Amino acid sequence: MGFGGAAPGEHVTRDLVDGFGRVHRDLRISVTDRCNLRCTYCMPAEGMKWLPRADVLTFEEIERIARVMVGRYGFTSIRLTGGEPTVRAHLPVLVERLAALGTDLAVTTNGTSLGLLAHDLAAAGLKRINVSLDSLRRERVIELTRRDCLEQVIDGIDSAIEAGLAPVKVNAVLVRGVNDDEIVDFAAFGRERGVSVRFIEFMPLDASGEWTVDKVVGRQEIVDAISAVFPLDHVALDHGGSEPAEVFRYRDGRGDIGIIASVTNAFCGSCDRVRLTADGQLRSCLFALDEVDLRGLLRSGATDDELGDVIERCVAAKWAGHSVNQVQFIRPRRSMSKIGG
Ligand code: SAM
Repeated sequence: MGFGGAAPGEHVTRDLVDGFGRVHRDLRISVTDRCNLRCTYCMPAEGMKWLPRADVLTFEEIERIARVMVGRYGFTSIRLTGGEPTVRAHLPVLVERLAALGTDLAVTTNGTSLGLLAHDLAAAGLKRINVSLDSLRRERVIELTRRDCLEQVIDGIDSAIEAGLAPVKVNAVLVRGVNDDEIVDFAAFGRERGVSVRFIEFMPLDASGEWTVDKVVGRQEIVDAISAVFPLDHVALDHGGSEPAEVFRYRDGRGDIGIIASVTNAFCGSCDRVRLTADGQLRSCLFALDEVDLRGLLRSGATDDELGDVIERCVAAKWAGHSVNQVQFIRPRRSMSKIGG
């Protein structure tokens, strides 16, 4: 694919389409591979090898790639993630630069620094935020994250609400035998605080390789558990946009929940996402085995046309869908925190 009749360097908006006709509009950017927590289903307790600082994209480089995605390919949504995005120094500066591109802009964070940062992020132009929290019990949070941070995260959620970020969503990864007894507690928490809880199925992207399918808590079980206490109505298969959640609304009008059933009800058919790792590698799928090196191109002085050719080739080669739980499935070399969840 090229840019048709456009002169080199000319600003063109065209769809970034893969071999299955999926148009891409959503860019996930990992701003760092580092994290201040060590969630058991994501990272080992010790021994993570961080990227050397020089390998991590600068704000200028991130902005350049984002501009290409928005300006050339009409991307409408950008999400900053990591690692933990708030451990990257001066995150609000990056937010301000990306907010100027005019897309929907969101951050996914573990919430521990929002008490300090929520107002600065909102002032920089951030509109909404997702906060990850996998238990509402202090001792369990300590076991899960290997840090004593529940109070800090709840304070972070409250600070985000106070700062006017909306919606504030809470992401909870459910793991069988670990926190699957808290489904209804999470629903109650969301209803009380006016935040929407997104239940995420556990995926085989844990650094320790301990994922097995019986640890996945499936969509129907979540809906049944909540509905028994707080009746739910199915709203939409919200797979089309930047948010791959299936949404259910409380019948009494007190908000909604979402379920991201990446394993039991994969939404690959409508995937519109590409991912940029902190070291500047572009991936067309969370589970991709290949990636393309945009950092090398940027640093060797590539033009936007040259970047575009490589981006288009990466997306053209995207597969129909991941094959988690099928015999041919191969775990990607990078775990979740090194890709950017
Ligand atoms: N540090 C930020 C946070 O905590 O949200 C952003 C990065 S984190 C990798 C992004 C999301 O991925 C979090 O909601 C986390 O719970 C989720 N995650 C990490 N490992 C996962 C796994 N193996 N399966 C499902 N979700 C996972």
